[in-house]
Amino acid sequence: MKHRIVFATGNAGKMREIRLILGDLGCEIVSMREAGADPEIVEDGKTFGENAEIKARAVWKCTGDIVLADDSGLVVDYIGGEPGIYSARYMGEDTSYEIKNQNIINRLENAKGDQRSARFVCNIAAVLPDGRVIHTEAAMEGQIAYRPAGNEGFGYDPILMIPEYGVTSAELTIEQKNRISHRGKALEAMKEELKRILEEEA
Ligand code: IMP
Repeated sequence: MKHRIVFATGNAGKMREIRLILGDLGCEIVSMREAGADPEIVEDGKTFGENAEIKARAVWKCTGDIVLADDSGLVVDYIGGEPGIYSARYMGEDTSYEIKNQNIINRLENAKGDQRSARFVCNIAAVLPDGRVIHTEAAMEGQIAYRPAGNEGFGYDPILMIPEYGVTSAELTIEQKNRISHRGKALEAMKEELKRILEEEA
């Protein structure tokens, strides 16, 4: 049976990336709005995985398709994993990333070398038509920079140094970042999972 994949996001950039990566699965890929689903979603999970599943499950209840959702954020070891699942809300949703980024750098004033380890994490949940759920998770490892650098990307990109490249995530080209990013890798892994499930069904 041919399935439709609904992605529980309103973000056009994410939809483009998803269509690019999942395109060759042979399924129609639509956003939740295109699928006519706009449920009230309360992201009150305690992990990236729980929040991704809450979003996917809420949309699945409206459509019954294969529904995917992601949840991601920056995890900084020296400050107990903050901002983590609260990355978007850290210091308030309306606070600029210039201020959020400088605040994290300041909190790591006494952290040296390996103590500055941090990563972007992305968990993707897929709720299948029969209600089963599967997850994939991936990370983009780095270290908190001593000062912000770069204008590409968004959010916390200017403060995550990527050792292999010797630059921050905001200094990588979009193509470089997509190849190694938490979201790119979690999506690739999800594509393999879905391929296997669709083949088993055929
Ligand atoms: P979301 O779950 O994809 O909406 O991401 C939550 C938050 O995590 C974003 O608002 C950013 O603050 C942060 N974040 C996630 N991925 C990235 C990234 O690739 N670069 C910079 N910040 C990110």
